[in-house]
Amino acid sequence: MSRPGLFEHLAFHSTAAAPLDMPRESVAEIAFAGRSNAGKSSAINALANRNRLAFVSKMPGRTQHINFFSLGGSRFIVDLPGYGYAKVPREVKAYWESLLEGYLTTREQLRGLVLVMDARHPLMPLDVQMLRWFVPSGKPVHALLTKADKLGRQEAAAQLRKVEKTLLNHYGGSAQLFSALSRSGLEQAEAVAHEWLGDEWRGDGPAGGG
Ligand code: GDP
Repeated sequence: MSRPGLFEHLAFHSTAAAPLDMPRESVAEIAFAGRSNAGKSSAINALANRNRLAFVSKMPGRTQHINFFSLGGSRFIVDLPGYGYAKVPREVKAYWESLLEGYLTTREQLRGLVLVMDARHPLMPLDVQMLRWFVPSGKPVHALLTKADKLGRQEAAAQLRKVEKTLLNHYGGSAQLFSALSRSGLEQAEAVAHEWLGDEWRGDGPAGGG
């Protein structure tokens, strides 16, 4: 399978605990959001064809922050903090809520949101919260239903239809099945990223030495 390689030079760039920390040179970015354990890091790693890249976001002190990965050409993949931990203190929850909401509602460079959800448990309340914050921006959403390998083919197709229907009726946006484990859905996800970021900048050269 030939892959366009949009993510091939993906490299960790920086961690932001507040809007002022976010890279000012960014021209365009795509954000990945999802419940903790949904498979967001695995999805980013699979797209980048790297094993541990996005696990940077799990290092102590970084899990509640926004992590920027450079694609080159001042374009970024933005790993938003995972949500839905049961035992998060109130202040921490309030902090990430304001960070996430602020980012999703005001970040001009943001071109689209990839909402990573376990294909078996999509559209949980906090996922819907992300959609409610983001959709009024008028920017596109793409639901990445991951761990699809854990479902039979028919079950997976039914989950996809269910999510597509809800998105269509309430939020707009597209959806797909994905599996980091069986590396399925990579091309489709990359095509979405291509569409959102365009291609004209890709002669600019790699970001992180590649
Ligand atoms: P994150 O917290 O959203 O970044 O989730 P991770 O990427 O760390 O994944 C959480 C758990 O789900 C890990 O044990 C992964 O190995 C597993 N996982 C992630 N993606 C897949 C997948 O596509 N298929 C299967 N079977 N397991 C997955």
